[in-house]
Amino acid sequence: MLTRRNFLGAAAAGAAMLTRIPNAFAATYDLIVKGGRVIDPSLGIDAVRDVAIAAGRIAAVEPSITADATETIDARGKIVAPGLVDIHSHAARTKEGPPLCLLDGVTGWVDAGSFGADAIDQGAAIAKGGPNLGRLLVNIARTGVAPGGELMDINRADVSLARGAIARHRDVVVGVKARLSNNVAGTNDLEALRRAQEAAAPFNLPVMIHIGQSVSPMRAILALLKRGDIVTHMYAPAPNGILDDNGRVFPEVLAARRRGIVFDFGNGVADHFNWDVVERAMKQGFWPDTFSTDWNTTSRTTGVIDFPNVMSKFLMFGMPLDQVIARSTVNAARVFEAFDERGTLNVGAPADVAVLELKEGSFEFLDNYKGTRTGKQRLFPVATVVNGKKAPPRA
Ligand SMILES: [Zn+2]
Repeated sequence: MLTRRNFLGAAAAGAAMLTRIPNAFAATYDLIVKGGRVIDPSLGIDAVRDVAIAAGRIAAVEPSITADATETIDARGKIVAPGLVDIHSHAARTKEGPPLCLLDGVTGWVDAGSFGADAIDQGAAIAKGGPNLGRLLVNIARTGVAPGGELMDINRADVSLARGAIARHRDVVVGVKARLSNNVAGTNDLEALRRAQEAAAPFNLPVMIHIGQSVSPMRAILALLKRGDIVTHMYAPAPNGILDDNGRVFPEVLAARRRGIVFDFGNGVADHFNWDVVERAMKQGFWPDTFSTDWNTTSRTTGVIDFPNVMSKFLMFGMPLDQVIARSTVNAARVFEAFDERGTLNVGAPADVAVLELKEGSFEFLDNYKGTRTGKQRLFPVATVVNGKKAPPRA
């Protein structure tokens, strides 16, 4: 998919920083995250390492860094991962969103369709004002997410208004969102998706669709997707999910993945997944490419809780920890060009770090249908660094 073409220049800048001579007035580094188990799938690292940060970027990842730093984070016994990237969030709904999800380790997020053309300016202002890297998908419906279903009236899917919103906010809008479930689009699902593609095409941007109990069958929907597009709520139950009547993943779904369609978890609250679909798909090896929360400021009190809780659901299904982290960091960062340098602790990259604790015990996890499953491990957010700066601790 996307290349990391920016890294050569960035890495050179990082190397230059390492040669900086310490002096009486300044510490060598701004921050060192010391002694944690660094798991960075982008680099193939799973080892105890110190991570040094200078001028907002990763300066060194080494077994032991003895140079002085202005600040340190003691990460012994903890996991040190690249900052989490949540590609299906609603963090831009209010200005409280971005700083709140930052405390969960989320250093990058994509608000997936809260706003359509009518209010995109408001979303863009919140994305630009947040401490983490925030981007938006413009909803193909001019109203954005709306009660009663924003696409029940297909005239709301106005291509020229959506294009105008993208053109006005090229720096923040990274794609188009279309919610295609029965209770959002009714019989307009395919036409809404066609219009989303039409809006995105001149800008060469991806479309994210939300599936679940749609009127049209999965194969008709998938036929309208191009490489790089994203299917969120991938484990939505029948009718018209990814599984056939015998619980097998449709061949068209496997074919869609082969041609570069991204399948995203999208936890959410209602109608988006149940444990049965997750289990059947996981057993067939149909794992998510990316995890996401479908987060908003009330998620603490839902089955989402926080991004590390969503990640933990897949530990319960036997996914190895490094794979869980890959889906929350580098895989997610590769979906949108704006996150090219994120999802990695590569030297020279912006210093976004999530310090997590993996606790053993008995943890109950919720699907969207009040179904509970009990896992033996749960990841908890401990500390977050964004652009080299320590976030305040979570209350
Ligand atoms: Zn959503």
